[in-house]
Amino acid sequence: MTCIVIVVGAGRGSRAGEGLPKQYRTIGGETIVRRCLKAFLAHPDVSAVCPVIHSDDRDLFTQSASGLDVLPVVLGGDTRQSSVFNGLSAIAHLEPDYVLIHDAARPFVSQTMISAVIGALNDYPGAIPALRVVDTLKSSRTGDNQRLIDTTRSRDGLWRAQTPQGFRYGDIMSAHEQCASEPGHSNKHSDDASIAESCGLDVVMVDGDERNIKLTTPADFERAETLFGQLEIQRESQRETRTGMGFDVHRFCPGDHVILCGVDIPHDQSLAGHSDADVAMHALCDALYGCIGGGDIGAHFPPDQEKWRGVASKVFLLHAAQQVLDAGGTISNLDLTIICERPKIGPHREAMQGALAAILGLDASRINIKATTTERLGFTGRAEGIAAQAIATISLPLGD
Ligand code: MG
Repeated sequence: MTCIVIVVGAGRGSRAGEGLPKQYRTIGGETIVRRCLKAFLAHPDVSAVCPVIHSDDRDLFTQSASGLDVLPVVLGGDTRQSSVFNGLSAIAHLEPDYVLIHDAARPFVSQTMISAVIGALNDYPGAIPALRVVDTLKSSRTGDNQRLIDTTRSRDGLWRAQTPQGFRYGDIMSAHEQCASEPGHSNKHSDDASIAESCGLDVVMVDGDERNIKLTTPADFERAETLFGQLEIQRESQRETRTGMGFDVHRFCPGDHVILCGVDIPHDQSLAGHSDADVAMHALCDALYGCIGGGDIGAHFPPDQEKWRGVASKVFLLHAAQQVLDAGGTISNLDLTIICERPKIGPHREAMQGALAAILGLDASRINIKATTTERLGFTGRAEGIAAQAIATISLPLGD
């Protein structure tokens, strides 16, 4: 099953105030359209995302979508309906089974809602999220005083439609084509479900979400900032902090340098080991594996396997970091202690910190490297080898 999402953001959004089209305004430091794109790209059932934008907004969009893997932009038409039609036509060659059509001004679309809409398409040609109308409905008089009530309408059986609206691709494409051929078509339909309905397609309503608001007025943006703050707190409460520790020792052997955190340090001996004997990186690997219950470095890279002979320990560290990433984790900080009488670590500390930061894609401020001696006591004191200890702290989504 392939499902492509069309994110429609070709409007001017003049009601939102300020000069910028509303989909390019930011909430919590990220533009609204970027939040939409990220929500769909994160969903496992979404194959691709097709943005439909206004021709004046190319630069704004390029900035907003920086680093995101979306389909080439499609330019919108004069109306929402024609913009969606352009998007549908542009993805025809990809032959999707399903298409979801989403307003770029609804940044709070949830993964649950995307799943519900896609799931319903197994049984119906169309599916939209909707909320029952709970307020009493009034219609106003026409003429001079439009604030005067004409009558009270029944709210029975009335729903408010949201997006993403999902359809079987062939059905909605035919419906759009049919509507596009009608005279005066382009302003008639304010959503895609109404186009499907007008062609006799069954469209089912799944649970909408009050938080999935369409940002329209300045007041909506104020509400959105509050909502964003609440969601951030909720997201944070759904994560836990994990800690892991690592310890490693390598003995000295004849040589002229040691490798610590990937940095060559001149010394009158080297470290013996199956790989490059980077004792510091090995301790860091075990600390990272420890955070996720991932065993130890020896389990992943057995020292009796010839293929790991002489290999740069960066390979091991990248593996450990990838395992953390695969578990949904992010590294909060790493704290490393190197224990030896010599070589002096201080002059190389910054280079080691920089090397780790580059390998792990971390800010150097999250990596601390300490060194100590054991007052000439024990094997490190007798300069028989180097020991290293590491502690890693990561943030991980709470498990089931
Ligand atoms: Mg080792």
